[in-house]
Amino acid sequence: MRDIYIALGANLSNPKQTFIEALDKLRSEDVEILNVSGLWKSPSWPPGQGHPDYLNAVAKISFKGTPAKLLQTLNDLEESFGRERQERNAPRPLDLDIVSFGQRILDSETLTIPHPRMFTRGFVLLPLEQVAPNWRDPHSKNDLQYYIARLPLQDVEAMKYIGTFYQCN
Ligand code: ADP
Ligand code: MG
Repeated sequence: MRDIYIALGANLSNPKQTFIEALDKLRSEDVEILNVSGLWKSPSWPPGQGHPDYLNAVAKISFKGTPAKLLQTLNDLEESFGRERQERNAPRPLDLDIVSFGQRILDSETLTIPHPRMFTRGFVLLPLEQVAPNWRDPHSKNDLQYYIARLPLQDVEAMKYIGTFYQCN
């Protein structure tokens, strides 16, 4: 099975509209959108910087190319929405990450799969659970519920579910 999951995040401009347009654009780039989580709102991380809240979602996709090609496609799309490469955690109109790519394990300078920071991010794990309740880490074989149970309670409580926003067909 080669399901691919990508995480969407944004805390500038109009994130919901950006996500809808970004998913529509991906469809014209040989990416099939199979399922999309609902929209979640989470506080900007790290806390206390006064940055706007994030909106987040996870999409299950199909893509016939390589992980590197997918990353290039996602980076180009981020740029087309005006993202400038700044320091980590800077506010951004669109962040697109590869969460996982089938059972692939990759660790290069530019691409690590599964995404190394996903396991401690409620804003990835909770939307991922909606589209892939049986997801497992290809390294450890731990399931999603294992990681969700280890999130700090305050992180989970700070996340607000907004609802569905994208129809795949
Ligand atoms: P984050 O998404 O963790 O907030 P950034 O988006 O600023 O961080 O990081 C971007 C860089 O991370 C990309 O240029 C890319 O080369 C690298 N990267 C490594 N692994 C991945 C992945 N699985 N998905 C997306 N980007 C990744
Ligand atoms: Mg990113």
